[in-house]
Amino acid sequence: MSSESFHSLPLTPAFLANLDILGYTQMTPIQAQSLPSVLEGRDLIAQAKTGSGKTAAFGIGMLSKINPAWFATQGLVMCPTRELADQVANELRRLARGVGNVKILVLTGGSPMRPQIASLEHGAHIVVGTPGRIRDHLSRQTLELGMVNTLVLDEADRMTDMGFYDEIAGIVSACPKRRQTLLFSATYPDDIRVATEAFLADPVEVTVQAQH
Ligand code: ADP
Ligand code: MG
Repeated sequence: MSSESFHSLPLTPAFLANLDILGYTQMTPIQAQSLPSVLEGRDLIAQAKTGSGKTAAFGIGMLSKINPAWFATQGLVMCPTRELADQVANELRRLARGVGNVKILVLTGGSPMRPQIASLEHGAHIVVGTPGRIRDHLSRQTLELGMVNTLVLDEADRMTDMGFYDEIAGIVSACPKRRQTLLFSATYPDDIRVATEAFLADPVEVTVQAQH
């Protein structure tokens, strides 16, 4: 397996020190192939299996653009399920210790609305959620996506399999046109091809074969 140090990337000393603390010494293949382009601000479609380190592949790019002093939602991650959204948020929180006081909020279905609305009133730099609940907050105007600069579609094939395409399209249209969009998918069926063309601009394409 090829490996490369995170220290080859244009990250702040605090960010790199936190990666060292987390024990992230070498990039996984998907991180090594994605992060240079992601940190240049390019859109990206990446095909990689579960467990390959996709969260840091988009999370490091997203977090490096977050301004903690600015209380607006600057990053949005869509995931197919509540469990995956929780996992992504936990990983982002670990990575965010190298940035400062970054608030990361999970918005998924099956949880009561009221606490989510209360949290949104206090502001969140990054929202991680499922398309149905994010759409719900948009229609209630409890979530504002006009300042999002990084949009991530994680496990995009599973989301389209679950019938979320129209909800995703509605959410994407609530984000600024000038943004970075990163799409991760284990497979590349037709509806992902359609999504890529609709939501991404001149994306870099990365494919990592299963390691095990
Ligand atoms: P995926 O989304 O591809 O399924 P995750 O982003 O959840 O994978 O990462 C899988 C596991 O690998 C997590 O426990 C994460 O903390 C760990 N991990 C990710 N990148 C690295 C790295 N560069 N070095 C060590 N561990 C890592
Ligand atoms: Mg993942």
